Amino acid sequence: MIVVESRKRSEVIDVTEEVRKAVRNSGVKNGMALIYTPHTTAGLIINEAESGLLEDIILALDEIVPRISYKHDRIDNNADAHIKASIVGNSAVIPVENSDLVLGTWQRILFVEFDGPRRRRVLVRVYEG
Ligand code: ZN
Repeated sequence: MIVVESRKRSEVIDVTEEVRKAVRNSGVKNGMALIYTPHTTAGLIINEAESGLLEDIILALDEIVPRISYKHDRIDNNADAHIKASIVGNSAVIPVENSDLVLGTWQRILFVEFDGPRRRRVLVRVYEG
């Protein structure tokens, strides 16, 4: 299990190297890795970790899901975070070859926080096949 400590309300955190280490430690040479975050206000995406783009992803999701008066906000005032997490999803599956993730040159595994700062979990399960 990977622990992610977010420091802002919304931010993107690159977890590629931690996932890579978990894949190596699994002992599986060829198969697939399931990466999953068990939260309702955070998600996972695979994309480029260019610093401007990481801020753009948050900016764009803020535009798509503005902080208007949602019904869930009567409970804990974070409906926008739940909706953004629903849009991006909370898992990724990546092929594994030679005990390493098969990622494109610019692809990174990005944890996306929408209701931080919080201590979050990312689970990695590696399957042979
Ligand atoms: Zn909530």
